[in-house]
This record gives sequence, C-alpha cells and structure tokens, in this order.
Amino acid sequence: MSAAPVEHVDELQAYSDEVAGCVRCRLSRGRTQVVFGAGNPHAELMFVGEAPGFHEDKQGLPFVGQAGKLLEKLLAEIGMQRSDVYIANVLKCRPPGNRNPQPDEIEACESHLFRQIELIEPVVVATLGNFATKLLSGSPLGITRVHGQEQETTIGGRSVLLYPLYHPAAALYTPSMLSILAADFARLPQLLGRSLEQAAPPEAPPEPELKLVAAHAASEQLGLF
Ligand code: URA
Repeated sequence: MSAAPVEHVDELQAYSDEVAGCVRCRLSRGRTQVVFGAGNPHAELMFVGEAPGFHEDKQGLPFVGQAGKLLEKLLAEIGMQRSDVYIANVLKCRPPGNRNPQPDEIEACESHLFRQIELIEPVVVATLGNFATKLLSGSPLGITRVHGQEQETTIGGRSVLLYPLYHPAAALYTPSMLSILAADFARLPQLLGRSLEQAAPPEAPPEPELKLVAAHAASEQLGLF
C-alpha cells in the first residue's frame, strides 16, 4: 500500500462524485457517463490511458474492452491484478468515434487526473501511449522514443517515477509492439521495489552491532581491555 492516508479515500470518492457532473468541455454532451477511474485507492502503481472507448463509456469503468483484457493479462504475468492497481485516463469522457483527444479537451480535463494522482499517491505512474506520456512528462517526445525509460518527475507536489509504455490497444494488432510492451511491463516489479526502497524511512542500526558495543563496554568494565 502507498502512504495515501485513509481520509484521501473519502476525498477521492467525493471528487469522483463531483466529476460525475463535469461539463467543462464538449465531450460531456455525447457521453453516457464520466469514466473517473477505478482500482485500489492506495495503489503503489497507477496506469494512465488515453480516454474511454465505447465499452468504458457504457460501463463507467476504464479499460474494460479488448485493450483492458490485454492489460489484465500483462498484469497477471507480473503477479498482479486490477484490484492491486489504479487505472485512469487523461480524458474522463469518450471522444466521439474514439477519435484522438483534442488539446482543449486535455486542458479542460487534466486537473482531474492531477488531483487523482495527488490523492492516490502512487510511487510509479505508468503512462499508456502518447497522450498520457506527453501530458505527464511535459515533453513532446513520443512513446516510440521513450517507452521503457523511467524518469523521476513531480506531480501534485510529489516525486513519482513515470514509466511510459506502449498503449495496449496499439499492441493488440502489432506483435512486435506487444513483445516490447511485455518486456517493458516485466520491469515494473523491480521499479516498484526500487521506488519503495527510496521512499522508506532509514533503517534503525542492526541489533547485533548494539549487542557487540554493549558486550565491549561490559568487558571494559571488567578490565578485559
Ligand atoms: N483505451 C484507453 O486509453 N482507455 C480506456 O479506458 C480504454 C481504452
């Protein structure tokens, strides 16, 4: 579990309720419902995709279509399941016909994602595809250039490890991309371990050494040194 305090879970729920009525951009007019995000509110690992598609818009949950099935399979390969992680998107509403998000839609929606990250406090944020990667890295470099290259970044005043990955929907139809995605995915446990180690408080000195010091002092008292 991340360090996200219990009250953040309530705040996340309250924020989700608030965003359910969002009308900041034109996408609100065509949606069935807002797809806020789902998963473990204390997740150490958070995934950020692009935008809800047809099935996500209908069910109100992210990554429930074919791309979601692949995401679940990749998670299983590293011993994890959906309930261990948190999954969200850059856009919370489905663009018509699954077209690309437009810059003004991203601008209108991005603070929802930043707030989610702030409240969940993940240690690793894995961005899926170009839109999430460019938004959260603040760099125009595309996913083909940066996939699998972790970088420290600051989101919501906290340092997180950003880890860009190919989008599972793109990998579904391109076997070469799928093997790269699987190889990049396989590094996640190591990255999580590394980030958690860095976040952990310094360890207390090991006990045996203390005992040695005490034994030495006792021996000194006895005139042995
Ligand atoms: N693709 C995305 O980027 N997000 C989803 O939720 C589903 C498909």
